[in-house]
Amino acid sequence: MHDLIIVGGGPAGLTAALYAGRSRLETLMLEKMALGGRILMSETIENFPGFIGDISTQGLIKRMEEQVSSLDIKIESEEVLELDPKLKSVKTHTGTYAASAIIIATGARARKLNVPGEDKLTGRGVSYCATCDGPLYKDKNVVVVGGGNTVAEEALYLARFAKSVNIVHRRDDLRASAILQERLKENKKINFILGNVVTEISGSNRVESVKIKGVGTAGESIVTCDGVFIYIGHEPETDFVKNKLKLDEAGFIMTGEDMATSEEGVFACGDCRKKSLYQVITACADGAVAADSAYRYITGEGK
Ligand code: NAP
Repeated sequence: MHDLIIVGGGPAGLTAALYAGRSRLETLMLEKMALGGRILMSETIENFPGFIGDISTQGLIKRMEEQVSSLDIKIESEEVLELDPKLKSVKTHTGTYAASAIIIATGARARKLNVPGEDKLTGRGVSYCATCDGPLYKDKNVVVVGGGNTVAEEALYLARFAKSVNIVHRRDDLRASAILQERLKENKKINFILGNVVTEISGSNRVESVKIKGVGTAGESIVTCDGVFIYIGHEPETDFVKNKLKLDEAGFIMTGEDMATSEEGVFACGDCRKKSLYQVITACADGAVAADSAYRYITGEGK
């Protein structure tokens, strides 16, 4: 029996652990993969207040991890499969852990295009992580799909290595921030194929081309390429809390400003919850609030 269980060790979970540890809550963190989460798919962050220029995401996570480890937080590498909000317990492959309060900070995973060839060629030219795979595409031609901030950052990263980067986006405008769009337009290696969707990814053993189709038209064409990087948004990692907590139609956890979920003593923070701005800074802020709310819930303070 613990004071607090934190599920997920990205920026939100690590910040919750930092605040919980400083409040001397006896805390167990469960993370199924490496600490850091989805942010490690980007190489740098350049909009973290107080830091001028880039911060390496790996460096930032390492510092967060060091802060947390100095506070006696137990960290176990385990995947949570089930939540019992009434008992405040979670089930993993190896057993069941219970606590006085639970914070869910499981983040989100990359959304798939769900087109023919995507699954077959994942790892063979189809990628969701330019930071991991970008250097493999030196002097090659790549397609990146999507129109948000992630596509913009990753296209700029890929342009460091690739011969050409074709951004395929379904609308005529990108939704990426203005500063990123300016940089995309300035980069001679980056081209835009707007108003188009990818309908198929082809290649016998590795990616050789994508089929694209103009939105609202019947015309299809082929773009030859060596790699396809897909950035069409994210889905929350909340399958294990379906029917246990109130979620929105896309599966994001509904919370109050205090990060309380629909179940007493269960809090959620970061990219797994429904909110208006998904950033590292807002994930960290959520984590701090969730830990404070959990502390108040456990101790009865502020009731
Ligand atoms: P996003 O902002 O949700 O953008 C997803 C893009 O994919 C949109 O342009 C969308 O098109 C397109 N899309 C969605 N489904 C599609 C489909 N089935 N086929 C084709 N295109 C599809 O996702 P994101 O760029 O991954 O960013 C996620 C969050 O992280 C955002 O809140 C973003 O601001 C934040 N983020 C911030 C930074 C930063 O501040 N530096 C960096 C990275 C991410 P439509 O535009 O037509 O909807």
